[in-house]
Amino acid sequence: MELEKFKELHYKFFEKELPEEVLESEEYEAYEEAIHEDETCYNWATAEKLKAKGFDYESYCCMMMADKVFESLDEDGEIKYDDPEVIINKWDEGLYGIPVHNGGATMVVINYCPWCGTKLSK
Ligand SMILES: [Zn+2]
Repeated sequence: MELEKFKELHYKFFEKELPEEVLESEEYEAYEEAIHEDETCYNWATAEKLKAKGFDYESYCCMMMADKVFESLDEDGEIKYDDPEVIINKWDEGLYGIPVHNGGATMVVINYCPWCGTKLSK
């Protein structure tokens, strides 16, 4: 999908209460598909979301990492432990890890971004 077209749909659909018939429309389906399958659209939409939340996404290797780290934090910016939705953690020391959801604070430290392959500096 063209990014311009996507932006138009995004402003129409994003964070709105949409009636059933809109959610089932082809236009909405195309919008959803673009978020999941078109990297340019995904990156733009994610940047918009993180900007709106005041999250400093520019210091991350890619939007996927920025978004997953954002989702790992609560409203106060603290790490949510043992939340099954969280798939990556970032610590203040610049360490990244995959949390093991075993009820404790176990995690597997990673050295490369699982999405873009960038070496994660300490
Ligand atoms: Zn990355």
